[in-house]
Amino acid sequence: MRGPDAHGRFGPFGGRYVPETLMNALIDLEQAFRQCIDDQSFQEDLHTLLEEYAGRPTSLHEASRLSDALGGARIWLKREDLLHTGAHKINNALGQGLLARRMGKRAIIAETGAGQHGVASATVAALLGLTCHVYMGEEDMRRQQLNVFRMQLLGAHVVPVTSGTRTLKDAGNEALRQWVAQVEHTAYMLGSAVGPHPYPMIVRAFQRIIGKETRQQFLARCNTLPDVLVACVGGGSNAIGFFDAFVDDASVQLIGVEAAGSGLDTDAHAATVSKGTPGVFQGSLSLVLQDRHGQVLPAHSISAGLDYPGIGPEHAYLHHINRAQYVAVTDDEAMHAVEVLARHEGIIAALETAHAVAYVLKCAPRMPRDAHIVLCVSGRGDKDVSTMMAYKEAHA
Ligand SMILES: *Cc1c(COP(=O)(O)O)cnc(C)c1O
Repeated sequence: MRGPDAHGRFGPFGGRYVPETLMNALIDLEQAFRQCIDDQSFQEDLHTLLEEYAGRPTSLHEASRLSDALGGARIWLKREDLLHTGAHKINNALGQGLLARRMGKRAIIAETGAGQHGVASATVAALLGLTCHVYMGEEDMRRQQLNVFRMQLLGAHVVPVTSGTRTLKDAGNEALRQWVAQVEHTAYMLGSAVGPHPYPMIVRAFQRIIGKETRQQFLARCNTLPDVLVACVGGGSNAIGFFDAFVDDASVQLIGVEAAGSGLDTDAHAATVSKGTPGVFQGSLSLVLQDRHGQVLPAHSISAGLDYPGIGPEHAYLHHINRAQYVAVTDDEAMHAVEVLARHEGIIAALETAHAVAYVLKCAPRMPRDAHIVLCVSGRGDKDVSTMMAYKEAHA
């Protein structure tokens, strides 16, 4: 397995910057994870749930009309949006839920931004009979009312977080604080490839199924490897899971797409790699949007799931060694991309995913007809239709 090292580092990034009170919990979690991941009955349980409950494997298919319209590379879609609950987050939630149960925990807590990880956590908690508290910024609760109600229907307690910008980073801080207070019976289900070691490693392990399937499916169809993989990056879990099976294939270009919000030359964006600097944020050393005094800056994106000033340490590392490239697209470009994909392929993508689509709209026409791009459709757009409606009304 590639990194992290014994200290949880990916090159200079990662690690475990947490209060002493959390150290033991993280060490216990790491031990339990290492046991489970090598344990055949754990793997069988997880595999069964992924297949029978979540709907894996997800399909990979060619977006023929979109490819023809753009007139360049052939575009393929890896359809994580078809999973139960509508996004890739269920892969990780099922894995961490089973892990929590193996560790004898009775409760889980989770943070959420768009609400997708909260819904996935609440879903898995119901499935496995665990109680569930989800911490969510007030601003995100307002933007994602349907997901709040979904979590409540599933029996979860949604706890509003009123500090800071009242978005994902504040919810993450609060969830970590709460975990310290109740660590004995409670597992913290982290929703992206961020946070202190071992979380980036755990989340990657539960998301790498995306890339593993993609590799097999693409080889079976085309008898070669794709040229470019494109995924959106919030904390980086769908992207790292998608990239993982291809990192050692130097011919495959890996592209992560961040949110440029209103533009990289404004203060309103979430482009952590493009504009961030190294710093410690939420338990690990990575790139972070911060001012010169190390104050974390508020992020902005039309999509709540990308509205995060940090990024997983492995992405910071892949950028550092130039193995992956990170680009940014604006709210406007993402919104346009939603419509292009919808009208050519009959798929309404999540606003997060739309960022990856927007980049494909730019790069595909510049590539030859025999080149192949695979796009990770991280989630479906049902949760975002009211945001999309409001955007269209404001820009009519
Ligand atoms: C949460 C979310 C993201 C962003 O999270 P990552 O950890 O970067 O994958 C992207 N797409 C969808 C649909 C999401 O729900």
